[in-house]
Amino acid sequence: MSTSQSPPPPPPPPSNPPQTQPTPEVIEEEEEEVVTDDNDSDYSSIDSEIPFTSPNQPPSHLTPTMIDPLFTSPPPLHDSLITPTSTLQDETLSDILPYLSTSPLPQDLFSYNAHGVPSLRREAHINFLHASLGRLPGRFVAADASRPWFLYWCLSGLAMLGEDVTQYRDAVKETARSMQNASGGFGGGGGQLSHLATSYAVVLALAIVGGEEGFEVIDRRQMWKWLGGLKQRDGGFEDRGAYCAAVIITLLDLPLDLTPESPAYKPDDPSFNLLSGVADYVRRCQTYEGGISSSPSAEAHGAYAFCALGCLSLLGPPSITIPQTLNLPSLLSWLSSRQYAPEGGFSGRTNKLVDGCYSHWVGACFPLIEAALANSPTPVNDSLFSREGLIRYILGCCQDETKRGGLRDKPGKMSDAYHSCYVLSGLSAGMHQWVLDEGKDGGEEEWMVLPYLEGEQVFENGDRVRAVHPVYVIPQGAVRGMRGYFRGKGGFN
Ligand SMILES: [Zn+2]
Repeated sequence: MSTSQSPPPPPPPPSNPPQTQPTPEVIEEEEEEVVTDDNDSDYSSIDSEIPFTSPNQPPSHLTPTMIDPLFTSPPPLHDSLITPTSTLQDETLSDILPYLSTSPLPQDLFSYNAHGVPSLRREAHINFLHASLGRLPGRFVAADASRPWFLYWCLSGLAMLGEDVTQYRDAVKETARSMQNASGGFGGGGGQLSHLATSYAVVLALAIVGGEEGFEVIDRRQMWKWLGGLKQRDGGFEDRGAYCAAVIITLLDLPLDLTPESPAYKPDDPSFNLLSGVADYVRRCQTYEGGISSSPSAEAHGAYAFCALGCLSLLGPPSITIPQTLNLPSLLSWLSSRQYAPEGGFSGRTNKLVDGCYSHWVGACFPLIEAALANSPTPVNDSLFSREGLIRYILGCCQDETKRGGLRDKPGKMSDAYHSCYVLSGLSAGMHQWVLDEGKDGGEEEWMVLPYLEGEQVFENGDRVRAVHPVYVIPQGAVRGMRGYFRGKGGFN
């Protein structure tokens, strides 16, 4: 009954893809402008306010493609010890290298820019994600308990591609209603047990499509009681879902108190609440490698690094909570080691292959690390990862090059909704930079986003995707819309 972060079986080619048109992304403005809270409840336009001008655009007459050999040649050092792992890595590299150069592939539908980078196949990906929200064939029964994930992956992907997803409001509302349990939380489908991961995905899906009727489907009182039942005395939650719980609690503006029915309730310490001990739990999940594992003593993994940093960023200002909790230099070393050359993309674990979904799980750690270092005596001026490498990998290797569309792990793999979502949010992390105003004077913290303009921009302005909130991984306006609505209600009324 549980779900995991493993990718689902790949969706089928869209049989009748909807005839949608991509939303033009290019908006020229004269000056750089930080996107701030404008109290506009219609979030669909917020991220389009980002200016897309770049001083580094190549002149249009530039045709020769000079790609840094770092991104086109095998690494200079090669371990002489041959193992199944090293053989697989070599095979993967030979599969990937043609996609990183501009030598045309036989089935090529790509058009390359002057930097040798293909354009974003926006319309194909939009069609793929719309189709993935429709009726799926019988073999998808294996993913039945992941239905909320499909909602989240597809809606988040569509939002990043510039689509208006409010057309799905009624459908998401009714689907969410059918998956909610009277005892609190959401299951993976009607009649299934509630789970933190599926509850997280339903809440995010409702936030993305927006609308008070959808928000009102959530039984917040029962959700709060149910979360109290999952809270553990060691600070963690059942299902290893502390990040999911923290996202739900903050988006729904739930009280933090525990009732005596909670297994974590401490009569001698009534201040111990839903978020108590979470930081200590996260600290125990940092491994000898520097990365973060799903539970103490397990293997460091990119997805848990993001969840840990996201969780700490919700517990307080990341410039305080992250350095206080984690060994930041060793975490940064581990995160940096996840990016490979010449591939440019990230792996999820030591000695594993590059995979597009870690563009998010690892790539999206860096904005949170930058926020953690904001008050450091040695401020970070340069990007902490190779944005060029990541963007080359995503646009060159992770786009399905056929009519099917969608994004994928790597060449040779089928596109699917999971990878489409997380490859696009990794692309967003590579294209933007975030600054956190921690609201020190009693004001509320505010994340602000800008296009990343340092160095050479290797993608066309029209290929930019919309930014998603660096902690909640949904559009910023969706976070404001849901959190603002529930804060305004006061209590459970
Ligand atoms: Zn993957």
